[in-house]
Amino acid sequence: MNRCEWCGKNSSGYGMVVLTIKEDEPSQSICEDCYNRYMADILGVEDYKDYEKEATFTDCDGIEHRFQIRKKIHPTGICWEAVEFTGVDKIGYSFEVHQDFEEDSNYALKRLYKKIRKGLSQKFIKREVFQGHELISFKGNIVEGRIEWDDRYDDRTPKFIIDGQEYSLEEFGRIMMSCEGWNFRLEIIEPTE
Ligand SMILES: [Zn+2]
Repeated sequence: MNRCEWCGKNSSGYGMVVLTIKEDEPSQSICEDCYNRYMADILGVEDYKDYEKEATFTDCDGIEHRFQIRKKIHPTGICWEAVEFTGVDKIGYSFEVHQDFEEDSNYALKRLYKKIRKGLSQKFIKREVFQGHELISFKGNIVEGRIEWDDRYDDRTPKFIIDGQEYSLEEFGRIMMSCEGWNFRLEIIEPTE
């Protein structure tokens, strides 16, 4: 837990923003609400608050996922996020959309919901039990997911979040071995795309 230096509210590390107002002054650690209020003020935009802060969606296997809906106001627009917390500062599914200031926030939220539904409508990894062993493989030729830092190792080791579940580099490599000898194409996609 982190305490906001402006309002004193406790927040998870994920929801904190480090703000540097003047270069020669120490930066401050503040909560998302204080950050958004501050940004809305200096940018002269609305700090839209009239939305559901939580939403539950069901994936293609009938499993429910509970998302926290949050926003961050940036100088270039608003970033809307739907984050599924699966543990303390541990994130499963995560979806983002960008809203321009001219766009209505309700439309941006509709796009976010659509993106969540689409994201949950298919899975990329198949788990089967074969002669007592669990076999994990890719369902098809395409795998989509998120690259995160694996804090169990040094700062150079990634982990992968696929179907809202974590796979270490080693686990991911093992799944890749089911395609040994094949070629692959890697495409990096911005989270708001
Ligand atoms: Zn605060």
